[in-house]
Amino acid sequence: MFSALSHLECPRCAATYDAFVRQGLCPSCASPLLARYDLPSVSLQRSALDERAPDLWRYHELLPVSAPENIVTLGEGMTPLLDVPRLAAALGLDRLWIKDEGLLPTGSFKARGAAVGVSRARELGVRAMAMPTNGNAGAAWSAYAARAGLDMLVAMPVDAPMITRVETAAAGGRLVLVDGLISDAGRMVSAAVAGSGWSDVGTLKEPYRIEGKKTMGFELAEQLGWRMPDVVVYPTGGGVGLIGIVKALGELVSLGWLAGPLPRMVCVQAAGCAPIVRAFDAGASESQPWADARTVAFGITVPKALGDFLVLAALYETGGTALAVTDDELLADVALVGRLEGLFLCPEGAATVTATRALVASGWIDPHEEVVLLNTGSGLIYPDTVPVDAVTIPADGRLTLPAVS
Ligand SMILES: *Cc1c(COP(=O)(O)O)cnc(C)c1O
Repeated sequence: MFSALSHLECPRCAATYDAFVRQGLCPSCASPLLARYDLPSVSLQRSALDERAPDLWRYHELLPVSAPENIVTLGEGMTPLLDVPRLAAALGLDRLWIKDEGLLPTGSFKARGAAVGVSRARELGVRAMAMPTNGNAGAAWSAYAARAGLDMLVAMPVDAPMITRVETAAAGGRLVLVDGLISDAGRMVSAAVAGSGWSDVGTLKEPYRIEGKKTMGFELAEQLGWRMPDVVVYPTGGGVGLIGIVKALGELVSLGWLAGPLPRMVCVQAAGCAPIVRAFDAGASESQPWADARTVAFGITVPKALGDFLVLAALYETGGTALAVTDDELLADVALVGRLEGLFLCPEGAATVTATRALVASGWIDPHEEVVLLNTGSGLIYPDTVPVDAVTIPADGRLTLPAVS
């Protein structure tokens, strides 16, 4: 058995659906649908993974693609979990890790969702896909769609990072620039696909992108030697990665591969767009749309996430928290982590550093706890985050070196 996928389930109204035909949102309550697996039928042992390739398909029993020939891959997965002792010391922690998703194809962890989402779409006979994006998802889905021979249309805000436009174009994606936010692009895509042959593959509009993103949780557990950390800090836009990590760890607990409790999940948002933080502070189960959303951390500029109720439930269930950080703070941390560890984080990833500092200061994180930060993309996508301090000298000039310290 290549995949143990059994059915789709609505996490809001508990209805179940056939996973072997195309499905979008729950037909009865418009919630995102989640893939469920026949976990007792999985006979795979943890040790058998040692023989498998270091990509996310090593967990294929727990992924939705039924047949290996439908896999569309660019070699995604098994990103490094880096020990960052100099940063840990600066934050006052004993054990700190950064899982560096910036090394994935197309430069962000959106490649995980695209690899599994596009593979499954092709398997189910989809030929044309459209999505709103803040840039990174469009770049990733265009790349995988090209490899699968599928048509891809991407609608992104005009101020999304320039490189993601270029990546989309380079992969032959049809690009539409929207003079507005991702929520505006989302409305246009849903209206346009209705009744057409196109599939809306926007965040959580189909059930399989999250299955790709959950592999961050599988890798994390495997890389820690089948243990869980105490705290996972995640830069949250649509929240798919956060929900996915909790889903993955829960599946591993059900399989008996991991023992609980789950890590306390931390949702980090930018002060200029923090609907889930506001909802968490109010003890609410859903968020309200954020007006005038604006932050340099473009990947987390999501004024109202379709899966907000799942993110909030995951925070409440794991004893987690949510907090917002300012652009000035997170940009300072892009520079700090570069200096201390040589890692060029994306602004979203740097936001987790700022948040961790605040949580250590408030006592919410104990200095002896083990903390994992997700760097969701490469700093290379955002080339203007770090000021460059350099002198220019003429070709016949002389270079003087400072004394070695
Ligand atoms: C999309 C994105 C996020 C947010 O991801 P979600 O899982 O949807 O919350 C964070 N960082 C980067 C770089 C992104 O592209």
